[in-house]
Amino acid sequence: MTTVPARKYSFETGVYRPPSEGGSDSLLIRVTRNCPWNRCTFCSMYKQEEYSLRSPQEVTSDIDSMADICTGLKDLSWKLNYRGEINREVAFAMINKHPEPNANPGFLMVFHWLLSGGKTAFLQDADSLNMKTDQFVDILTHLKKTFPSLNRVTSYARSKTIAEKSAEELKKIRMAGLDRLHVGLETGDKVLLKKIKKGVTAPGHIKAGKKAMEAGFQLSEYWMPGLGGKAMWENHARNTARVFNEINPHYIRSRPFFPIPGTPLCQEHDSGQFQPLSPSEQLIELKLMMEELDFTARVCFDHAANYWRGKNGRLLFSQSYEGYQFPEQKPFVLSLLDEGIKAQRGVPRAPMLNL
Ligand code: SF4
Repeated sequence: MTTVPARKYSFETGVYRPPSEGGSDSLLIRVTRNCPWNRCTFCSMYKQEEYSLRSPQEVTSDIDSMADICTGLKDLSWKLNYRGEINREVAFAMINKHPEPNANPGFLMVFHWLLSGGKTAFLQDADSLNMKTDQFVDILTHLKKTFPSLNRVTSYARSKTIAEKSAEELKKIRMAGLDRLHVGLETGDKVLLKKIKKGVTAPGHIKAGKKAMEAGFQLSEYWMPGLGGKAMWENHARNTARVFNEINPHYIRSRPFFPIPGTPLCQEHDSGQFQPLSPSEQLIELKLMMEELDFTARVCFDHAANYWRGKNGRLLFSQSYEGYQFPEQKPFVLSLLDEGIKAQRGVPRAPMLNL
């Protein structure tokens, strides 16, 4: 049986990952800390935290620690006559033998990843591609070698960072094993992009999206219904659809705007400068955006903030991570929107969500 020194069980994890990575119990590998931009006016995620790069040695050592935990769990499983099966009894036995992983919230994450088959990994935090390409490639190579069961590795990336990499660098990263990029597009409207301080223009989003697609990545882009409020909803809907049509990504994902206390946009909201859309107005905006879409992507509503209800009070949209295939399912999505607009009429405001 393999003997693992206790110190090897320590590793670092960040807080955030996309809902679809939570749903697939992705292994979370932290390659950078927090967000190098950190200025978007709607976002609170890393506002109290400083950005830093991690060294490739730190990250590969974390990967080795996770591998040690996996080996320890599997060895214990055989020793306890579970024939390699990973279950609660094995996890408890591991903690009894080595209490130190119990103090690391990442232990449960590794346990669940193993339990679900060890198929997917997500590289944290907000913009992993900000790392030097060669270092990033080394980390990916080590990850794939250590965990050959992985069949999907993903990461967040800012459009600006993607656009600044050369086509060759992006291809190198893709070939080293990064499969999918999750990008926060938020809006395709140039005025709104400036207002929310996204740090990228609409042509910048298009350039980055096309480069990512050409390099062979699966591209998953988030946008934010309601972000323009009453003043900018129509341009927000039309221009976001226009930018998505030009990029033609694999996925678009709706992550509706909610004012988050402490953010500049929430202050505008509280002072009355920002007029939010009512639930039925949000769906009217969504309908216009969907009508304008002319692409072949999967349209997803997998974030918990997609709260709208249809008739009989059921959730309007499926929260499946694969969403609806456009253009085939566009008429169905439009019919859901008509149903939702009727059902939400008279509802004055969106519920408070604990996101
Ligand atoms: S780039 Fe992403 S993580 Fe960074 S401030 Fe903007 S929304 Fe937040």
